Amino acid sequence: MTATIDKLAAAVRSGDRRALARAVTLVESTRADHRGEAARLIELLAPAAGGAFRIGISGVPGAGKSTFIEAFGLHLLAKGRRVAVLSVDPSSPASGGSILGDKTRMAELARRPEAFIRPTPSGGTLGGVARRTREALLVCEAAGFDTVLVETVGVGQSETAVAGMTDLFLLLLVPGGGDELQGIKRGIVELADLVLVNKADGDLAAAAERAVEAYRNALTLLRPRAAGWDVPVAACSSRTGAGIAAAWDAMLRYHETLTASGELAARRAAQAGEWLWAETAETLLESLREHPGVRERLAQLESAVREGTLPPTIGARRLIAGFLGETGGPGDASPTAADTAAPPLPAAAAGRLNHVAIAVPDLEGARRAFARLPGASVSEPRSLPEHGVIVVFVALPNTKIELVTPLGERSPLRSFLEKSPGGGIHHLSLEVPDVRAAAAALAGQGARVLGDGEPKTGAHGTPVLFLHPKDFCGTLVELEETARERSRNDRSYASR
Ligand code: GDP
Repeated sequence: MTATIDKLAAAVRSGDRRALARAVTLVESTRADHRGEAARLIELLAPAAGGAFRIGISGVPGAGKSTFIEAFGLHLLAKGRRVAVLSVDPSSPASGGSILGDKTRMAELARRPEAFIRPTPSGGTLGGVARRTREALLVCEAAGFDTVLVETVGVGQSETAVAGMTDLFLLLLVPGGGDELQGIKRGIVELADLVLVNKADGDLAAAAERAVEAYRNALTLLRPRAAGWDVPVAACSSRTGAGIAAAWDAMLRYHETLTASGELAARRAAQAGEWLWAETAETLLESLREHPGVRERLAQLESAVREGTLPPTIGARRLIAGFLGETGGPGDASPTAADTAAPPLPAAAAGRLNHVAIAVPDLEGARRAFARLPGASVSEPRSLPEHGVIVVFVALPNTKIELVTPLGERSPLRSFLEKSPGGGIHHLSLEVPDVRAAAAALAGQGARVLGDGEPKTGAHGTPVLFLHPKDFCGTLVELEETARERSRNDRSYASR
């Protein structure tokens, strides 16, 4: 894998177009197993990246962005530049069938070898799409493109994402919007380093000139985004090409001015800092969603939050607790300061009460009965054929109750229910840092461990052992090895 990625990186740097397309596909991939390869690729390419003039382009659908990029891109090629076009479009469907995927857009530019046009990556969260576009941008730079146009198609937050990864943010407007900024949010106008009123041709020419005046006046009221740069407002026509050369000259002036003042370097440094946090957040979220401890409780927590039985804040804390290696059901309290401050337990010591199990002859009836408890969140029934039971978890703030009913003829619960047909407390479960050590210590003091003494995998996927009821006043005791107690026992556990 490493050798393939190394070769790919070398091919990208040599300007191999097929390698470039493959590299961009890799960084755009949402597959978890591609992330590591993409990260390696970026690491290899990063030293060769950073050299392009990064230009963000925004405008409402129909403003003429693709027509502009075609005309502008061809002008840049005529000036000897190499142009890559990327886009941020969180709204596009997973099929990738967005308007940007349409091959007829920028048809002439797309045919030119000095240009690279990438249809928008398929949908996802804005954070995810923005991250893939940022990486694609680096790949294009490493492949020798000196101008990268990043278009935003979303009307909303994606503008901020694009402004956050480019050197210059161009806002493309159309005449006829009156003195209103055409439904474009003021916040987006504030991001602009250059405003162009497109379609300044034919019947629209006069209206375009009036719009330029109106926007100029409106912009004087706004503070410019960069010190020492008054945001120019000009007219252009992507159809006739009028104003396109002047727009590029203005961009070059901008680049020179901000490079000289150090503003551009400062902006890139700030963007790198933001990127660090965006990347951290995205990566964390991804691993959190994939984490077995989170997956296990996600559905239950989500429904409890939707039903209003669990405050979202607490739900979030429990998801994070699951991610950090805590075990237990959704009723598990999130770690408190006392938890973290608690001293490590000896390996054999008893920890918290994990749950109390109640054997019930009628699971649905029991479920309804416990659902009446204020504040309790009651799960859907879950079959555990390997244990011969069906369980329902009743989540309480500090612990949980498990309602268990027999599954199959050989269920260990049958004999219990024969003796107590109405149901009753079947066992209680104590958390221990090390189930074998705990059982050995208890056996040393005369307690009987049921079965062959080998731990089995319990309902929570953790090792468990049972102790004989006769040794605990008629109560069957389950010892459950949990990561929470293990981590108290060995603080490095969670980071492994
Ligand atoms: P996008 O949605 O912003 O990418 O907009 P398009 O580039 O697809 O353009 C939308 C429509 O405006 C198309 O019918 C274009 O032909 C037209 N258009 C784009 N630029 C100009 C221009 O400079 N002048 C005129 N008259 N029409 C234009």
